Amino acid sequence: MDRVIFHVDVNSAYLSWEAVYRMQHLGVREDLRECASAVAGDAALRRGIILAKSIPAARCGVHTGDTVFEARQKCPGLVLVTPNYQLYETCSAVLFGILRTYTECVEPYSIDEAFLDMSGTEGLWGDPLHAAQRMAQEIRETLGFTVNIGISSNRVLAKMASDFTKPDRIHTLWREEIPEKMWSLPAEKLFFVGNAARRKLHLLGIRTIGEIASADERLLRLHLKKQGELIWKFANGADESIVAAETPPNKGYGNSTTIPFDVTDEKTARLVLLALCETLAARLRADGVSAGLAAVAIKTESFVCSSRQRVLPERTDSTRELYEAAVQIFRELWGGEPIRHLGVHAGRVSREPQMHQLSFFEERDSKKQRQLDRAVDTIRARYGMDAVKRAALLQSPIDHMAGGVSREKRRPDYRALGLL
Ligand SMILES: [Mg+2]
Repeated sequence: MDRVIFHVDVNSAYLSWEAVYRMQHLGVREDLRECASAVAGDAALRRGIILAKSIPAARCGVHTGDTVFEARQKCPGLVLVTPNYQLYETCSAVLFGILRTYTECVEPYSIDEAFLDMSGTEGLWGDPLHAAQRMAQEIRETLGFTVNIGISSNRVLAKMASDFTKPDRIHTLWREEIPEKMWSLPAEKLFFVGNAARRKLHLLGIRTIGEIASADERLLRLHLKKQGELIWKFANGADESIVAAETPPNKGYGNSTTIPFDVTDEKTARLVLLALCETLAARLRADGVSAGLAAVAIKTESFVCSSRQRVLPERTDSTRELYEAAVQIFRELWGGEPIRHLGVHAGRVSREPQMHQLSFFEERDSKKQRQLDRAVDTIRARYGMDAVKRAALLQSPIDHMAGGVSREKRRPDYRALGLL
């Protein structure tokens, strides 16, 4: 029997959430969703990228990912607001809370998107379309923002459907509707087809999803490897993946940062990694856990992402050990392209006490390292995180404690904006 899968996606999430917050909590009259507006990072730090835009802004041609400069050129009166990640996390949590009252099987896909397995809930909520209408209405009425809901028998098709027309819309994309609703769309609208794949497909003369579907699978595999195989399946509506109800508890700790300038040399990249590990390892220590796996992610100037991970010889919460692992991984991963964003991830975390295996060729006193880390944590806790800095980062434009909650996720100053 066919399953019933929903993909729920908040319309212009960051912007809607900010608009609702301003109206409901700050008593602001103006609805950001109704004027040309966008959420963007700080332009001076080169985080000046459009993260979300209102529909009037989209009509002016503003795209997510545009620089603030580009967006302002397209839309001179554009109202810009700074991100408020704390607010987004709260909104996301209450949204997922509502979704979980409809089915136990909710898989958060991003902060504002989730897959729901609604199979077998007809007795409770009626047919899928009615269930979706009820869900959308409850979200609109209790939380004040709108969602798109895509309905199908698998995840890929449900996700495609939720993207059809916006906002506040419900679309079905059952298998039999594929030719009519999906095949005429441009190839890059298909899930998993990015810019690089689109270019390759164009060279093969493939411009629509229908043309991917009818292409020879071997040809796609030849030019696009595993991805070719996958998109051929997707274009034909096949996707066997299941909705995984919960993300496993504590998937690890991550920290990443967009660098204010392109990094083109290893020395600077190492400083960024050091700054990231500084914050990351401090979080591990604060939670009393250690990591058994490290990973590094790179986003290049042309927005190509790559990552690599490795198991650590033993679990650690030491800034220095994490940093050294990160540098090794970075060296294996980096091909020399200018870097705009770097991330470090610590996985396989555990609360169990660390066992330290003394190496025959022990190069340094790890007990001393631990004492040093603890001392630095104590000083920072008492006198602020800028009280102690590594000398390597003293004269550097890189924030010595890059990424993390404390700086990136700070709340916008509503008082300074005259809204309080
Ligand atoms: Mg969304």
